[in-house]
Amino acid sequence: MIIVLNPDATQQQIDHIVERVTKLGLTPHVSKGVERTIIGVIGPEDILRVTPLEVFPGVEKVMPVLAPYKLVSREFKPDNSVITLDNGVKIGTNKIVVMAGPCAIENKEVLLETAQEIKNAGATILRGGAFKPRTSPYSFQGLGEEGLKYLVEVGKKLGLATVSEVMDPRDIGLMVKYVDIMQIGARNMQNFNLLKEVGQTKKPVILKRGMSSTIKEWLMSAEYILAGGNFNVILCERGIRTFEEYTRNSLDISSIPAVKHLSHLPIIVDPSHATGRWNLVPAVAKAAVAAGADGLLIEVHVRPEEALSDGNQSLIPSRFKELMQELRVIAKAVGREL
Ligand code: PEP
Ligand code: MN
Repeated sequence: MIIVLNPDATQQQIDHIVERVTKLGLTPHVSKGVERTIIGVIGPEDILRVTPLEVFPGVEKVMPVLAPYKLVSREFKPDNSVITLDNGVKIGTNKIVVMAGPCAIENKEVLLETAQEIKNAGATILRGGAFKPRTSPYSFQGLGEEGLKYLVEVGKKLGLATVSEVMDPRDIGLMVKYVDIMQIGARNMQNFNLLKEVGQTKKPVILKRGMSSTIKEWLMSAEYILAGGNFNVILCERGIRTFEEYTRNSLDISSIPAVKHLSHLPIIVDPSHATGRWNLVPAVAKAAVAAGADGLLIEVHVRPEEALSDGNQSLIPSRFKELMQELRVIAKAVGREL
């Protein structure tokens, strides 16, 4: 349920509602908008149905949340959510955030060289996988904790925040210790135990869209994380599987405005996994910014021909730098900055 308060509702009235609702075994979430405050109330349907929420002083009206994803829905929180990282970088503001780096952390030297390049080009977050979800068990699986150590060391040295994928609930403690953002990959979007566990932390999470998931299923997965108490979720469109084989996936550009309409959560786009081809990445990245994405996640490698994974979709630093300049023009044209 959503309790919409009168524009002149007092803090005392808000506190009173929060206290009473909590006592009834329901969970209130207060969101203070520019115009008015609303309180989203989550809990068992049977309690909600019989509780007369309209009676509290300061209440204008009470409405049911129609979407199956409650906390994630824009009905529940009309204003855009902004995720703030420990180093102050914000995701979900007017400023578009670029995250870049190699698919996998291969060694400290390549990571440092690549990180230096992406930083010089204007990216603020360094990506790199330490636990890799590879299709073949014989492919490079990542360096594990050793990789996370390199990521943090390089990130600290250059003043870049860090993002890396978590595949196993048993690694969450490690991830929380090392990285600024945990990524849940496409293959794990419906790993509900993993979602529940990251929901128990406060660490920002990038939730990638599953390869064959609908927007609704994706938002329901985000709901698992928010329901656990972690509201720091960033959605990432990375293409879905279609009959097309020329590209690795098919980017669903319409998911960007759709998610913006349905949810308050920020959405970023990964043009690298969406296309699988480096020469297609710049156009798709620009289209994503034009369509309203809050950020981009791009694979960059100093020597893609030597990369241990996804070399064919990784940009070389000079092309990445050029792309950043092109993106600034697009961002400006749609009233944003980069
Ligand atoms: C990745 O970002 O390295 C990755 C494996 O992406 P996805 O889960 O989108 O395939
Ligand atoms: Mn990759």
